[in-house]
Amino acid sequence: MEIKPITKVLIANRGEIAVRIIRSCREMGIHTVAVFSDADRTSMHVRYAGEAYHIGPSPSNESYLKIDKILEVAKQSGADAIHPGYGFLSENAEFSRRCKEEGIIFIGPSPEAIMGMGDKITARRTMIKAGVPVVPGTTDAVTSEEEALESIRQIGLPVMIKASAGGGGKGMRLVKEESKILSSLRGARSEAKTAFGNDAVYIEKYIDSPHHIEFQILADRQGNTVHLFERECSVQRRHQKVVEETPSPIMTEAVRAEMGAHAVAAAKAANYEGAGTIEFIMDDNLNYYFLEMNTRLQVEHPITERVVGVDLVREQIRIAEGNPLPFAQEDLHQSGHAIECRIYAEDTDNNFMPNPGTITHITEPLGFGVRCDGYVYEGYTIPIYYDPMISKLIAWGKTREEAIERMRRSLYEYKISGVKTSIKFLERIMDAPDFRKGGYNTHFIEDNIDFLLQEPECAFECENLALIAAFVDYTTKLHDIEQTMSPESSRHGSDWKEFGRRLAAWRL
Ligand code: ADP
Ligand code: ADP
Ligand code: MG
Repeated sequence: MEIKPITKVLIANRGEIAVRIIRSCREMGIHTVAVFSDADRTSMHVRYAGEAYHIGPSPSNESYLKIDKILEVAKQSGADAIHPGYGFLSENAEFSRRCKEEGIIFIGPSPEAIMGMGDKITARRTMIKAGVPVVPGTTDAVTSEEEALESIRQIGLPVMIKASAGGGGKGMRLVKEESKILSSLRGARSEAKTAFGNDAVYIEKYIDSPHHIEFQILADRQGNTVHLFERECSVQRRHQKVVEETPSPIMTEAVRAEMGAHAVAAAKAANYEGAGTIEFIMDDNLNYYFLEMNTRLQVEHPITERVVGVDLVREQIRIAEGNPLPFAQEDLHQSGHAIECRIYAEDTDNNFMPNPGTITHITEPLGFGVRCDGYVYEGYTIPIYYDPMISKLIAWGKTREEAIERMRRSLYEYKISGVKTSIKFLERIMDAPDFRKGGYNTHFIEDNIDFLLQEPECAFECENLALIAAFVDYTTKLHDIEQTMSPESSRHGSDWKEFGRRLAAWRL
């Protein structure tokens, strides 16, 4: 197998993930090229990369989604590879194909693998063939309303109507009642048409008390495929992940081994190369079913990196160079527990409305076991054009309890002014008894919303109040002390001896 070292990577993305990719490139001695839109002239990824090129106006379809423009910059800058990050062009088969045609390494899977897994109906069929359990449902797109009604009668309510081209929780409808079938079908269709330009939908059984469990996989070109264990992603809002953790609190050793083997089989069936994720839905009895494969780096990849001790971006690059994986399945182990919180610029009290704006102050958490993958800085204005995620906070601990306490402490340390953020909401999640117990499912946020929207009450806040009280007390007394000082000493204003003596008398 030919190994072609990568010397310069263009990052076809922005925000925290662009910065995160540049970091690994730096450590590998690889030059980096950033691309940016009008809104991102002052963005961190532009400052942090070796070179940066303007690619167009702020809307992503005029910049970060412009394949021609990005390829032009790749050639102009002499980049030999492109990393797509997540979102944007990362799951675009056409982009992977065009890179190949232009002789630029796409750090990701082949166009065929992206296409095969991007279409959820095709993916379901591939998984059935590979012996991976899929959610009971249709294996073809439903073509008429009569057919949909008939399929739902067979599967039994409740069901999920899902867009074959879906992603990001869009084009999906949960149907519980017969009377809502047709309106949900039409709703899912039109949403899918608008969002993905494809209105093909299929029907799946709705899994009760669902837990979202996914497996990270890595596959090289030599045919080695390993999994890097699971991530529990059941803390969701509108089918979008909010908090992720690994290991999953509900996982058993036996089920982990079986699911891991199925994840590897799934990746092999997809002829997969690079880093990818197999998503499963699991019920309370630990029965699990394939949901979809994400053919890219995942937002929540750092928790796996922390617990397994593997830099996934580095491995992606090494695989793209043609290197075999440096480890086998038996070399990989989970060590401790990691949790990730997604920090958004949003108003959690106002229906989670995005709240972009200028950061007037920021203090990021630090300390043992803490990682903060962000991209904003003081004075930076979060643009309105993109996802309002500010950063991802990852806390590690030897045990789940320790990881939760560390996350709690880190969220407390995290101070952002200028924009509203989800930090307090995340603190409440860490405090929620249902979260602490583990075993929560995807209804966790909905079921606990009243608790989660309350102000966090915590030992640290009390500590803070006590400190403020002591300070106020101290300054008031200082005032009294000054009042009682002799005119000479107050005139000089520096009779520290006297001052100290009196202060001691106050027993401060
Ligand atoms: P997307 O491509 O939008 O990520 P997924 O198929 O991965 O779509 O589903 C997103 C989320 O929707 C899941 O994590 C889960 O919470 C919920 N979900 C999807 N399918 C089902 C199902 N059959 N039963 C219960 N929940 C489901
Ligand atoms: P997952 O959690 O399964 O990795 P998501 O769907 O939550 O997947 O994450 C991908 C989403 O992140 C995209 O659909 C997009 O809305 C958003 N996104 C894309 N690029 C960025 C970026 N640079 N920074 C923050 N969010 C982004
Ligand atoms: Mg998904």
